[in-house]
Amino acid sequence: MTLRLMSVHAHPDDESSKGAASLAKYAAEGVDVLVVTCTGGERGDILNPKMDRPGVRENLAGIRRAEMDAAREILGVRQRFLGFVDSGLPGEGEPLPDGCFAEQPLEEAVVPLVELIRRFRPHVVVTYDETGGYPHPDHIKTHVISVAAFDAAGNPERYPDAGEPWTPLKLYYSHGFSRARVLAFHEALLARGMESPYEEWVKNWTTDRPDPEERVTTRVQCADWFDVRDRALMAHETQIDPTSRWFTVPRDLQREIWPTEDYELVRSLVDTEVPEDDLFAGIDARVGGMRR
Ligand SMILES: [Zn+2]
Repeated sequence: MTLRLMSVHAHPDDESSKGAASLAKYAAEGVDVLVVTCTGGERGDILNPKMDRPGVRENLAGIRRAEMDAAREILGVRQRFLGFVDSGLPGEGEPLPDGCFAEQPLEEAVVPLVELIRRFRPHVVVTYDETGGYPHPDHIKTHVISVAAFDAAGNPERYPDAGEPWTPLKLYYSHGFSRARVLAFHEALLARGMESPYEEWVKNWTTDRPDPEERVTTRVQCADWFDVRDRALMAHETQIDPTSRWFTVPRDLQREIWPTEDYELVRSLVDTEVPEDDLFAGIDARVGGMRR
């Protein structure tokens, strides 16, 4: 029986910056991996100066779909859009644009994801924590609909027109951007006499909320897929400046200092013991999952 993993994201490119090496690793092991992208990223900025040229802004939605296709291909996964419209990142006090994803009522916004869960039948679902990992209204909405859909998908009384009920077995939040990890890279770079791109970040990190690192239950060893992750991220050409700090930490150093991607187990319908090193811990035996 094939194991299935669903990873829910807000915009095209989020799948490649949050947990991409684990997705590529599971796909290589024969797990059926589906990336779900809630919005088309239509209101994103062009973050790569090289791509900020005539014709790109006007066609951003189409270009981002093509970038998503390229990244999906590199990661070796499947991908579906839910079809919501990007909310953009409104400034302080600015309203959300009409009809955007973040504005949709929960009861309606959750339906396409419930349908997709019932059709794809994932054993494991991964999403963001309640902060969105990044304070973008679409990231927070992604968290909200993912948790609601996880809880509703198996219940025949909820959304009876959205397909045969399916109960996923585990729900995780991904925690890529911990202070502990950034600090570990920062210190390792300095110790090797290299320049750290994280100086400002480390100095200004607010400690008014706990480091997500403290919530990690599950570390997936995936250093062999860091190069695949980086190639997938670069495929989102409008979103990633290849000279940015994303790519300044040498991969050998990443392998040595932090070879895992980290997750928090938030729901489990199977017996498992934390800490874990596998998103499917406790599931393999139960469903007879086969992996290469
Ligand atoms: Zn995003």
